[in-house]
Amino acid sequence: MHLRLTDEQKMVQQTIRKFVEKELIPLENDVLRNEREGKRSLSKEKQEELVMKAKNAGFWGINTPEEYGGADLGQMMQAIVAMEVSKTFVPFQFGGSADNILYYGNEEQKKKYLIPTINGEKKSCFAMTEPGAGSDTQNIKMTAVKDGSKWVLNGEKTFITGGNEADFVMVIAITDKEMHQNTKGREGVTCFIADRNMGWESEYIHTMGEWGPASLFFENVPIPEENILGELHKGYNLGLEWIGFARWIVGARAVGTAERLLQMAIDYSKERETFGKPISERQAIQWQIADSAVEIEAARWLVLNAAFTLDHGEDNRHLASIAKLYGANMGTRVVDRVMQIHGGMGYTRELPIERWYREARLWRIYDGTDEIQRVIISRNLLKGHVKLGQYV
Ligand SMILES: Cc1cc2nc3c(=O)[nH]c(=O)nc-3n(C[C@H](O)[C@H](O)[C@H](O)COP(=O)(O)OP(=O)(O)OC[C@H]3O[C@@H](n4cnc5c(N)ncnc54)[C@H](O)[C@@H]3O)c2cc1C
Repeated sequence: MHLRLTDEQKMVQQTIRKFVEKELIPLENDVLRNEREGKRSLSKEKQEELVMKAKNAGFWGINTPEEYGGADLGQMMQAIVAMEVSKTFVPFQFGGSADNILYYGNEEQKKKYLIPTINGEKKSCFAMTEPGAGSDTQNIKMTAVKDGSKWVLNGEKTFITGGNEADFVMVIAITDKEMHQNTKGREGVTCFIADRNMGWESEYIHTMGEWGPASLFFENVPIPEENILGELHKGYNLGLEWIGFARWIVGARAVGTAERLLQMAIDYSKERETFGKPISERQAIQWQIADSAVEIEAARWLVLNAAFTLDHGEDNRHLASIAKLYGANMGTRVVDRVMQIHGGMGYTRELPIERWYREARLWRIYDGTDEIQRVIISRNLLKGHVKLGQYV
């Protein structure tokens, strides 16, 4: 057992950290100003410039297989990168990647959707959630009915990340009602790749955060048979795989953000004086700093263990739920303490704390709520799928 990053991992971590410090953090004030004025966080040109810089630095397709031009660095590296990039709220992603389930496409679909997505020429989104079915994914109502060589889709999806910007959606619909009922929703649903120009529409949803997901509307939208992703009637597992991948990454994001925020609180507490002394000399402040540091370290190891387990080809779903549940809650606790330590200033829009406060709240809701993670974790233990202490 070796509880330290390898030299290669440290090198990547340091390089990404420098990129974040040099290229992204200096843009934070611009982002805050733009958002206050109701504009796009970063201009398209600025975003393209950043992507070029990342590409030139070799950070392109961090987890994309080499045969598709990526670096294929593995999940552990993905976790490390997510932690570093989340130290800023400047919206940026190292590109060159595509949704995990797009790799299940056939050769034609890979050419048409996977490769353009990796190259940044097309934007994707994934749609499972409906107005009447969020946690209860088996309760979806969208239907796809066969009509000659096409499937005709009807229904509504909601809260779809990137749904307003996407060129195509991977959408889950019922293709066999009886099978769907008899298997409690596990079969009889299919994943379709639907281009926007096939006829679906989207509408932006305003949220507490600075960006919003979308509702997608399908009214008699015809999708060609060849746009079925994976197997007919077997789309549910693809959906779970898509959701499952993002799960522990939420924990990684929470670690990076909480670390940056805690550093802000440490620095501020040494400068801010009340009653003749810096507040850092008060036990009430010290304990908040200590509790936050302990929780960040705990979340870090949970995330790294989830990533390590996946890299070793083992099932990491139990650990992913633990990392997501703990990480998301740790993140919201830390941002709250950091706001408290900053007093009134923490509540203003001059500092980014209130922005992170709003963003962090989402972590406990999407990719499976807190309650759903608890359902999964307790079920695994009660049914004996997982034993305590199994993953060391
Ligand atoms: C910003 C944002 C982006 C999103 N992006 C996507 C996306 O890209 N694609 C997509 O398909 N979906 C997306 N979602 C949907 C998201 O996954 C769901 O909102 C989430 O799963 C919860 O579903 P719900 O909102 O319907 O809440 P509900 O399922 O209605 O839950 C309401 C409450 O009841 C609790 N609850 C539900 N069932 C149980 C139970 N069995 N036991 C105990 N408590 C329970 C929940 O935890 C919650 O507290 C996104 C959501 C948001 C807010």
